[in-house]
Amino acid sequence: MNAEDRVTQERDPAGPGAPAPSPAPVLAARGLVVRYGRKEALRGVGVSFHGGSLGLLGPNGAGKSTFLRTILGLLQPDRGSAAVLGRDCVREGLRIRALCGYMPESDCHVPGLSGVEFTAYCGRISGLSSADARRRAHEVLVYVGLEEERYRKVEEYSRGMRQKVKLAAALVHDPAVLLLDEPTSGLDPQARHETLELIRDLAHRKGMHVVLSSHLLKDVETVCDEVVVLAEGQVRASGRIDALKKMASGFVVRVDGDAERFVRRAAEAGLTIERDGRGALLVLDGSGAGALTARALFALGRAAGTPLRHVLPAEESLEDLFLRALAEEPR
Ligand code: ADP
Repeated sequence: MNAEDRVTQERDPAGPGAPAPSPAPVLAARGLVVRYGRKEALRGVGVSFHGGSLGLLGPNGAGKSTFLRTILGLLQPDRGSAAVLGRDCVREGLRIRALCGYMPESDCHVPGLSGVEFTAYCGRISGLSSADARRRAHEVLVYVGLEEERYRKVEEYSRGMRQKVKLAAALVHDPAVLLLDEPTSGLDPQARHETLELIRDLAHRKGMHVVLSSHLLKDVETVCDEVVVLAEGQVRASGRIDALKKMASGFVVRVDGDAERFVRRAAEAGLTIERDGRGALLVLDGSGAGALTARALFALGRAAGTPLRHVLPAEESLEDLFLRALAEEPR
């Protein structure tokens, strides 16, 4: 058995595979409000995540780190509640921290310690015996690709290596849930790719539930099945990424005659319309059912007395959808 297979050995002896379904939601938050003094960093956040990989996507200052620290029980919510695997984040913070691996955004190594000493130290803090902590430290350091460098001092590591040692430290006690705060922050393209591949492997082959916070849509798209879009402390959109992609697809329409009339009619039919500024309209099926057809749009144009010159399939990129979600006030 190689080190890669041993990373989750203690929890998943059957080997690589999808995360086992969990009886309680992996993460459930309701109406979470968290304040720093008068600053409201989370304003009624609700999240329900039943396992797999969840992206927490939002610009800097959206509240992502605050959310992660709250569900770990490191910050007390002013209102609302949150639970990880059925454990309440206020009353059972210690238990939650034993179940979770946490990779904070900022550097957190201990000066003077080598990679293996630091990782073993984190294992000891998480409750492993000295021998187990050392054994696990070697295993996870090999897994993250620091086999050669594990005896060097962490402060001598490159940025990419420091991110990897933080990931190793988060994995050392074989947690059921991995919480990663901006894990690719400051990495060059190669290191970023390697880090995302490791996280993908953990989520999709090693059976670990992953919550990944990032301001980069690409990171979330690469690793996650689901996403919660946070902005200004509020959830602006959420769902499975493939379903959101379907919702983002629509048609580009050009109207012969009174475009406003067609727009009114389409809105009455529950469709979402956007303009490109050059006379074309982007018609989106807001239901997410993906049932909108070109034929139905031609029929709608005729019924409105505004025949359509053409209807072309258009795929609004996921990025456009997120930008729109960020721009919109929550309902
Ligand atoms: P993100 O992780 O999405 O960048 P944060 O959770 O770090 O967002 O921050 C959310 C908001 O809370 C921001 O406006 C930030 O300035 C503020 N904030 C974060 N930490 C503190 C703190 N310790 N004291 C006061 N304000 C804070």
